[in-house]
Amino acid sequence: MARRQESARGSMPLSELLISKESKAMASFGVRDLDTMMRFAPRRYVVPAPLRSLHEVNEGEEVSAVVSVVSLRDRAMRSRRGFILEVIVSDGIEDMPLTFFLTKPHQVQWHRGRLPIGAHIVIHGTVGRNDYRGELQIAHPTYEPYEDTDEGRIQAQRPRPVYPLRQNIAQSTMRSATEKGLEFADSLSRPVPDETLLRRGLPLLPEASRLIHTPLTLEDTQRGMAHLRYEEAFVLQAIFAQRRAQDERTPAPVLAAEGPLQGLFDERLPFTLTDGQREIGEKITERIGNGHPTSALLQGDVGSGKTVVALRAMLRAVDSGHQAALLAPTEVLAEQHHRTLTSLLGELARAGQLDAHPDATRVRLLTGSQRTAGRRETLLDITSGQAGIVVGTHALLTENVEFASLGLVVIDEQHRFGVDHRRRLRTKGPAGQSPHVIVMTATPIPRTAALATVGDLDVLTLRESPGQRAGVTSFVVHEKLPKWEQRMWARAAEEIAAGRQVFVVCARIDEDEADAPAPPVLDENGKEQPPALDPARGVTQTAARLAARPELDGARLGILHGRLSGEEKQEIMGQMARGEIDLLVSTTVIEVGVDVPNASTMIVLDAERFGVSQLHQLRGRVGRGEHAGIAFFDTSARPGLEHSQHLEAIAGATDGFDLAELDLRRRGAGDLVGEEQSGLQRTLKHLDVMRDARAIEQAREDAFAVVAADPELTAHPALAGAIADRLRDADPDVERS
Ligand code: ADP
Ligand code: MG
Repeated sequence: MARRQESARGSMPLSELLISKESKAMASFGVRDLDTMMRFAPRRYVVPAPLRSLHEVNEGEEVSAVVSVVSLRDRAMRSRRGFILEVIVSDGIEDMPLTFFLTKPHQVQWHRGRLPIGAHIVIHGTVGRNDYRGELQIAHPTYEPYEDTDEGRIQAQRPRPVYPLRQNIAQSTMRSATEKGLEFADSLSRPVPDETLLRRGLPLLPEASRLIHTPLTLEDTQRGMAHLRYEEAFVLQAIFAQRRAQDERTPAPVLAAEGPLQGLFDERLPFTLTDGQREIGEKITERIGNGHPTSALLQGDVGSGKTVVALRAMLRAVDSGHQAALLAPTEVLAEQHHRTLTSLLGELARAGQLDAHPDATRVRLLTGSQRTAGRRETLLDITSGQAGIVVGTHALLTENVEFASLGLVVIDEQHRFGVDHRRRLRTKGPAGQSPHVIVMTATPIPRTAALATVGDLDVLTLRESPGQRAGVTSFVVHEKLPKWEQRMWARAAEEIAAGRQVFVVCARIDEDEADAPAPPVLDENGKEQPPALDPARGVTQTAARLAARPELDGARLGILHGRLSGEEKQEIMGQMARGEIDLLVSTTVIEVGVDVPNASTMIVLDAERFGVSQLHQLRGRVGRGEHAGIAFFDTSARPGLEHSQHLEAIAGATDGFDLAELDLRRRGAGDLVGEEQSGLQRTLKHLDVMRDARAIEQAREDAFAVVAADPELTAHPALAGAIADRLRDADPDVERS
């Protein structure tokens, strides 16, 4: 344990620098060394009220004033233990008492020591009224010595940092800790070269620390924070630069063959590729042919045709004498991908069967719920290389599945796969080589967000979607307005009557169990408020309620959730695909990729409990064929309140890119790529990938230049140390030598 908390930079431990109360306060935030403390930013700043004269202030006002100490007097309190210290101060015209209620005699002494008679001080506090004498007073003001110079006046008005607090920690403890730290600011580790900072017009670290912890103006705080943001971006980008440089030194299978499967497949396609698909196809071809591992992020909205692009790359791997794997986040999806690939490939996927094309390969599905015999056969095909394409879940990575020669891995739905997953693939190629990796995501992220979070990947974006999708219109429905709900179910019934199908998605399986977590409602101070939402509806109860609704009389209902066996799930999805179910009530097991072209309506109950990208994925399940889709986001949040407004915004944004921005602005980058993601993106401290786009671009340019000139960072030990710290923060389980 102790080792982990040490800084790789050998920064000064706070326990040697501060008194125990201060270092304990910092330690409660995991801050144990000087370098970390000076980068521990205040949550906000308070600017003192303008300086006033005591004779013009009124009860209830927050005031600052320059005064001198006239007299002090303390006495024990009568009603309870403790002391009252009364300090009479004057601004030359008017007197006013300052009152302190103190529990210990040493506290009285402490104030007396700091308030000698005649001393000039500046006070900040709220004017109140003395209970029994009825005169104006200020209870528990903050105060400090005042110097009657220009400098002194500026000091008196400077913004005060407000640090996050934990139980029993006083703001003054946090402030005195950081102020002491500033005395050692010159010894801080500086990962960004000074000349880089100067060129970018940013303050050097010691100055930035002063600007952050003892600013004179609010502009100071901005300049100080700009340094921290830039530094964070710079260290991240240096990590990406090193990874890329390492990729360039790593051998990978050369996937450069020109045929035959690729040509045969293109001829078989019932449509022509879009320009985007063709262009991205060429880029991928170029990268996977050059003998070093490719790491690419293929992003495009739901239905933009990523699968075909990926499949063409997989066929290139097979043509080149290697194998390709397609990984999906769930078994349902893996099964569906397997169906899609085999049907797209037709006779090209039937190697070993009578009706196969002479150049055919085998496409194998490997999932956990497969029966032993079939599984053994599949594993054999994978090991012998008979299976050119293997479709499966994450399990393909973790289990000891031996590929004859894995050349390319395509990962569907990146938000479930972290950096560590990708890196685990590194050893899975033939003869210690590293296979190429293409990650597909239907939650496209803006360019700088991608640079900040997955900057070691090449980002390839499919912008337009192939034509025949009818599209989806989304509506927010308020459960509290019964007419709307009625209209929604009536609409679902109309669609069913017209021969189409409906999905109803719930946030949980059963209402008898613990409620699914509702999203927190934060007030302006970031404190959590009671959510004012009804408990989430469950699949089981919803199905029963719908069965009793007159509008849906005669509709064939089905239910689907994660607690059904793999076989049951497959059976239900099969029935849905064949049109034997009219309305399917399910959890988000259907979130990604499920393809039922005849489905036209998506109803999400308690929609505020789903993330932006989840809602977008869900509505992407309908309107996939010729029929226009409708999505209803049903919520118990009252119209006009935060959750409702958020849902309205999602309903109004149709483009995945707009949504991604919306999501980022709302949540910041912390959750950018999903809850299950561990790794670098979870730990962004100061950066906001939208606000700091420019800093990110600049830091990338600078960091890549530094790493290109000095790949091992021999001349940049502070940067190397910061990288090591960062990687350990991101992934504490990774052993590092
Ligand atoms: P994504 O994986 O990006 O969500 P898919 O690859 O599943 O999208 O494609 C969505 C649908 O569009 C599929 O039915 C696919 O066969 C079809 N499709 C893909 N490319 C084209 C194209 N160029 N023209 C017409 N249809 C296409
Ligand atoms: Mg897809």
